[in-house]
Amino acid sequence: MGSRRNFIRTTGLTAMAGIAGFETVFAGLKSKSKASGKGLVLRFIPYELQLRHTFTIANNSRTSTPDMLTSLEFEGVTGYGEASMPPYLGESIASATKFLSALNLSQFKDPFEMEDILKYVDSVMPENCAAKAAVDIALHDLVGKMMGQPWYKIWGFDPADTPNTSFTIGIDTPEVVRQKVAEAKPYRILKVKLGQKTDREMIETIRSVTDVPLCVDVNQGWSDRQMALDMIHWLKEKGVVFVEQPMPKTSVDDMAWLTSNSPLPTMGDESVQRLPDVIKAKGVYSGINIKLMKCTGMREAHEMLTLARSLDMKVMIGCMTETSCAVSAAAQLSPKADWVDLDGNLLITNDPYKGVQVVNGKMTLIDQPGIGISALNPKWKI
Ligand SMILES: [Mg+2]
Repeated sequence: MGSRRNFIRTTGLTAMAGIAGFETVFAGLKSKSKASGKGLVLRFIPYELQLRHTFTIANNSRTSTPDMLTSLEFEGVTGYGEASMPPYLGESIASATKFLSALNLSQFKDPFEMEDILKYVDSVMPENCAAKAAVDIALHDLVGKMMGQPWYKIWGFDPADTPNTSFTIGIDTPEVVRQKVAEAKPYRILKVKLGQKTDREMIETIRSVTDVPLCVDVNQGWSDRQMALDMIHWLKEKGVVFVEQPMPKTSVDDMAWLTSNSPLPTMGDESVQRLPDVIKAKGVYSGINIKLMKCTGMREAHEMLTLARSLDMKVMIGCMTETSCAVSAAAQLSPKADWVDLDGNLLITNDPYKGVQVVNGKMTLIDQPGIGISALNPKWKI
């Protein structure tokens, strides 16, 4: 740990500097805060997630994922967060470092001013959604700990409503696919990555070893709508329950046609990043895949979920390859989802946290404050 602390100090990766002038601006808003004058203290450190298997989707293959672990401290209470940054999404350790370094959170003397804090975080630079989520998750963890309640309870959700969570099977040789399916035995639904020439072979291989329900994620891999519809009819016969992002996100008209003709629900993932995208997805997809790393975190994810429900759309909660930190944060929303795809922590070999666990195929939400995680190493400190 000593070397980690030195690394943070010497590379200047903490963003702790305050601007005194802001304190007077916010002085009237912090009445209930026992502010010491220090405000919120943000820390962050890069962390490379090691993947259990080489991960292949329609247009990308990799063995690790760059990640930024964060903490937010207020008067001795610490919340934890994380930014997972698969390279194809455009964020990196460098961009997250730049973004987090630009934040001045010490101006905020009351963590309960979440609306103002997160509005400020979103306003500092455009994009940087995962880096913003790293602050949002840490803030939710911190505030939940200060309230002594987990977020699913604060939101009023019943943990018993959580649906089965899926385990992802990446595109691979039949031999490796069979091995992955064997590893996925505790799961009652599998998510299969499609979008290449081997699509039917992938499904047939999985069906040769299991009859659990499947969902498929095409990652924009099908370009012809009639071919996509034929595939969806075939997939329905094979026990598939929904199809995620079958066509490119730019193929809006074809996608709307496909959804209106499809015998299975279609879910927008790459097409749906943030709150305004939910309205655009209505009539184009049956539902949306909400991921904290796309939508800047738990606050906007909760708003997206509420909006999608009011539009009578399906909702799934997904993730990137992440530690138990972001997965446990996303799991707080899971009781209100139709489908949950939160296996990101199980796809890595160096998870520093312990959080939600899969029991009998379901995420088991823990009655612990905040996002309900603890560090595997008791001396862990960011
Ligand atoms: Mg997807």
